[in-house]
Amino acid sequence: MTKTMRKVSLLDLTAQYQDIKPEIKQAVDNVLESGNYIMGPFVKNFEQAMAEYCGTKYAIGVANGTDALLLTLDALGIGPGDEVITSPFTFFASAEVISRLGATPVFVDIDPDTYNIDPAKLTAAITPRTKAIMPVHIFGQPADMDEILAIANEYNLFVVEDACQAIGSTYNGKNIGSLGTAGCFSFFPTKNLGGYGDGGIVVTNNEELARKIQILRVHGSNPKYYHSMIGYNSRLDALQAAMLQVKLKYIDQWNRQRREKAMMYNNALKDLPLKLPYVKPNREAVFHLYIIQTKYRDELIGHLQQHGIATGVYYPVPLHRQEVYKDLGYVAGSLVESEKAAAGTLALPLYPEMTIDDQEYVISIVREFFEAKGERV
Ligand SMILES: *Cc1c(COP(=O)(O)O)cnc(C)c1O
Repeated sequence: MTKTMRKVSLLDLTAQYQDIKPEIKQAVDNVLESGNYIMGPFVKNFEQAMAEYCGTKYAIGVANGTDALLLTLDALGIGPGDEVITSPFTFFASAEVISRLGATPVFVDIDPDTYNIDPAKLTAAITPRTKAIMPVHIFGQPADMDEILAIANEYNLFVVEDACQAIGSTYNGKNIGSLGTAGCFSFFPTKNLGGYGDGGIVVTNNEELARKIQILRVHGSNPKYYHSMIGYNSRLDALQAAMLQVKLKYIDQWNRQRREKAMMYNNALKDLPLKLPYVKPNREAVFHLYIIQTKYRDELIGHLQQHGIATGVYYPVPLHRQEVYKDLGYVAGSLVESEKAAAGTLALPLYPEMTIDDQEYVISIVREFFEAKGERV
């Protein structure tokens, strides 16, 4: 079976722009004409829309998703001597912010079915220094929030949701980001709700926390030029806010398209010796990435590449095995599920505007790979 070669990228941000171009251009023009480029009404309106979308009282725009996490932990008073529990199978920023504040990340292994932190292993990692748990809703699937919140309650810990990959996903019908002490989102262009540059936001129901983050993001000042804290320069640009406000209207539709495409992959690949994404009951995933796992990972990536298909590895090195964390003392095999996932997973192309033809082509090339191996289940 030879198929005509075509190029399939992992994602295509320009396809989405083409669909909403007039609205985005208008939003940009509105900001440019207004003379309000930092803070102001465009940021405020978008914050309100995000709080409403997530079902929280407050939303505070910041410069990026990393800062959303950093300012939240800082506002919660986390610093030297403290420990924060998080997943080792995530983007580096999740742990980086903990270290940046002088605290120590404590890594708890993942559930191999969902790639999310395994709540059964949480309690053993809690010490008198533990201040918070940071679940990461990885690839757009909610973590086990009931179990995590119950443990956090018992030990009096904050729960800071790293929801950077999961906007719009739900857990027992509630929006991710609204379940813990605070939820942190990124608007990095490749995220499900992506800006045209950097951006981030914190959502919370906690008024004191919201106020503190609002002060921290403007150099710890309130009012201007009166400084009560050492803060940051970490604001969401008015331009990004205005463009994101346009895109927020479409996020549910785009997430639905992602889910439909994920189901199509699931159906077409289910008889192959692959581990496919598993979504637990009572939650709706938003497939930031479509992740599969195979012992032939690198070979499959090569085969797809030869046929013009891009893939990605998220993430090749789990955080407890990063060079910068070698002093934390996690040896190889210490968090075995995250190490297996790092060695065996890859992302197939998936984005809302992906064409059926492209997806069928990807499916046929993946099938061809396993058929050549004589492997079917
Ligand atoms: C993208 C991402 C971040 C960081 O967001 P930025 O906007 O790039 O700073 C943090 N955590 C996770 C899980 C992410 O995917």
